[in-house]
Amino acid sequence: MNSFELVTKLRTFLPTEAVLHETEDLRPYECDGLSAYRQTPMIVALPQTENEVAEILRICHAAKIPVVARGAGTGLSGGALPHAEGVLLSLAKLKRILDVDPAARTARVQPGVRNLAISEAAVPYGLYYAPDPSSQIACSIGGNVAENSGGVHCLKYGLTVHNILKLRVVTIDGKILEIGGEGMDSPGYDLLALMTGSEGMLGVVTEVTVKLTPRPEKAQVVMAAFDDIRKAGDAVANVIGAGIIPAGMEMMDKITTHAVEEYVHAGYNLDAAAILLCESDGAVEEVAEEIQRINEIMNKSGAAEIRTSHDEAERLRFWAGRKAAFPAAGRVSPDYYCMDGTIPRKRLANVLSGIEALSAEYGLRCMNVFHAGDGNLHPLILYDANRPGELELTEEFGAKILQMCIEAGGTITGEHGVGIEKINQMCSQFKTKELETFHAVKAAFDPDGLLNPGKAVPTLRRCAEHGAMHVHRGEEKFAELPRF
Ligand SMILES: Cc1cc2nc3c(=O)[nH]c(=O)nc-3n(C[C@H](O)[C@H](O)[C@H](O)COP(=O)(O)OP(=O)(O)OC[C@H]3O[C@@H](n4cnc5c(N)ncnc54)[C@H](O)[C@@H]3O)c2cc1C
Repeated sequence: MNSFELVTKLRTFLPTEAVLHETEDLRPYECDGLSAYRQTPMIVALPQTENEVAEILRICHAAKIPVVARGAGTGLSGGALPHAEGVLLSLAKLKRILDVDPAARTARVQPGVRNLAISEAAVPYGLYYAPDPSSQIACSIGGNVAENSGGVHCLKYGLTVHNILKLRVVTIDGKILEIGGEGMDSPGYDLLALMTGSEGMLGVVTEVTVKLTPRPEKAQVVMAAFDDIRKAGDAVANVIGAGIIPAGMEMMDKITTHAVEEYVHAGYNLDAAAILLCESDGAVEEVAEEIQRINEIMNKSGAAEIRTSHDEAERLRFWAGRKAAFPAAGRVSPDYYCMDGTIPRKRLANVLSGIEALSAEYGLRCMNVFHAGDGNLHPLILYDANRPGELELTEEFGAKILQMCIEAGGTITGEHGVGIEKINQMCSQFKTKELETFHAVKAAFDPDGLLNPGKAVPTLRRCAEHGAMHVHRGEEKFAELPRF
């Protein structure tokens, strides 16, 4: 089926303006938050109902046309990068909050609903949706499910997967699956967990039932400045080791602190090698006791300066810099490349020193801002895409950071997904058998490989071609990979 025939077929049940095919209409969809990779799709479809989603998928399935689902397009790994000969299926118009149930502490929402809009709808009941990606003002809950997104508060309250109960999913052949349930457990394989983080490769999410959490009575944050990043790393380990689970524990290095301070004037210590923000929330007495313990630990860990927020305005100001780190990077560099690796907390200082060495080797600045509590690094490599060869250099630098994360016992993604960006690093992270299992799961849902092809899980051939990277625990060499 050619583009003209497909447009005609889709317009039999979608309004004319819900099927885009002119180049200028397709342009806004050519990339997600990872703007280094761009591709215009053949067609963009903007359904408004689950039935329309199902019908689009049925048509594409019958005609063997690739489909890439898209939420708000804030993804940072190129997951929603369109397919040149495919349909970009935007879920942006499915944006209704269907139900908020304060007794069950749940909300049932369509996939295009913004993350923050769920919490806003729950305000009258004293509830909120806990996972809070820094992009929460814009990103969609469907995208959050597809990426298993996290945020500052996920250390205490869990990732998306821990905060959803049920999904409605449309399969590539247009069938509706209802996954999960109201109870703590449901029989059979855990398809809810499987679908969460599947990056649009297994099905299209059309409804999400999320858990809502009571708003804490009080929240307070300790801001500690360290003259040595190792001391800050130790402080993180000491807090967790003391049995405290902070509501958030975030770190910024010196270059980040300077960039954000110029931008939001949060009052950060500009001499510090690292700033640590550690939040406590809960009942008033509980917070008071925890904040006192956190202060003691920061002190013992060698903090040069410790400040505790006295009121809500000050707490928000302390966080403002951390929350604005990405836009601040945009102010100090024409382009930045955001990596997303995880490492065991105890390896923080070593890996950060390694990144510093790589930064000098490549002659590219790197801002480090990260979820220190769960060892989720976000190195932002600053570069200029207009300088010939600099993007390639940046990608090489980024790949080395991820390799370092694997060697430190971590992973190549903490919350941003694999997408197209980290697909080669998957060859380093997983062995042949593990990749084959991923492919078998994909084939069970989507035998023709039409949903988001070329993303998240590399073919074994691709791994063979990037064989030099395949050093999983030193056990396996790329030459053993079958070529198909
Ligand atoms: C400034 C900034 C800060 C960020 N901070 C964080 C952070 O703190 N934590 C974090 O985890 N992420 C963060 N992100 C990344 C991003 O916002 C998340 O990955 C988010 O979940 C993507 O949602 P989206 O709606 O924009 O999805 P998109 O970018 O549109 O899509 C992401 C992936 O989900 C798939 N998808 C989208 N909707 C559906 C659906 N309904 N069904 C099936 N598949 C679907 C797409 O195919 C794609 O693979 C940040 C991004 C930016 C730009």
